[in-house]
Amino acid sequence: RMELNIGMLLLNALIKTIALVILFIVTFKNHLEEPLQELTQKISDLKWENRENRYINVNFEYDNELAVLQSKFNQLLSKISSEEEEKFDLINTQKSQLELDVKNRTMELEEANAKLQKLASTDTLTKLSNRSKIDDELFNRHENFKRYQRVFSVIMMDIDFFKKVNDEYGHLVGDYVLKTIANILKENTRGVDVAGRWGGEEFLIICDETDVEGAYVVAEKIRIAIEAYEFDHVGRKTASFGIAQISGDLSLDALLKQADDCLYEAKNGGRNKTVKRSIAKRI
Ligand code: GH3
Ligand code: MG
Ligand code: MG
Repeated sequence: RMELNIGMLLLNALIKTIALVILFIVTFKNHLEEPLQELTQKISDLKWENRENRYINVNFEYDNELAVLQSKFNQLLSKISSEEEEKFDLINTQKSQLELDVKNRTMELEEANAKLQKLASTDTLTKLSNRSKIDDELFNRHENFKRYQRVFSVIMMDIDFFKKVNDEYGHLVGDYVLKTIANILKENTRGVDVAGRWGGEEFLIICDETDVEGAYVVAEKIRIAIEAYEFDHVGRKTASFGIAQISGDLSLDALLKQADDCLYEAKNGGRNKTVKRSIAKRI
């Protein structure tokens, strides 16, 4: 009986132990392992660099130490999130300030560049295009003619007996006459045309999309305007004009030579004249 009792006691103890172990395993699984796994998962899922994923709170629905851990963890999350947000805002502010600075600098540079370009292509005395600008424009228009058959004409102009102005009234008066004649050129040419100082008291006008007859009208208008102008000290002055139009496979040099020849003819023909080279004459 004693042995039987001891056996029963042992069996009882064994059953209780097994029950306890089962209870412990179940409790551990439900209350500890799963929440801990979820917490681990949440932590590894966090993407700090992504603004949208910041506020992922953990929610276990347990009322024990894990709930405390959960609340602490969520506090930590929101603290980090708000710091991240501040950092993000700061970086954004700095970025837009930097972008604004770059934009302003670029604008300043572009303005300075435009001024420099204007300066480099302008004749200081007359404020017309200088020789290098005329050369560029001639080249561009010649390319346009070759590609799209857009004709243009050139007017070569030389002031008559200009040396006399310098000799009789001095260089300053000579400069004043040059500046005044430059203004007459500006007033009588279109924005798309180029009025430039070819050198000394010679000027060149490029008439855009204009044939020799059209350029003749422009030259005559300028010639009459100069002839009619009453210059201080000097009185009346006149100028002579030679005109040529681009055509066929005429080179730029040949075009300028034709205009120059016409100007020579105008001078020899008594000055204060416009001589044009008709296209038909070239063949
Ligand atoms: P023509 O009718 O044959 O053209 O006679 P012209 O006296 O105008 O011709 P010429 O070529 O003999 O003289 C041009 C003068 O222009 C000579 C030069 O002193 C003057 N000249 C050239 N550039 C300037 C300048 O920038 N300022 C002044 N004041 N005179 C200049
Ligand atoms: Mg001359
Ligand atoms: Mg002259």
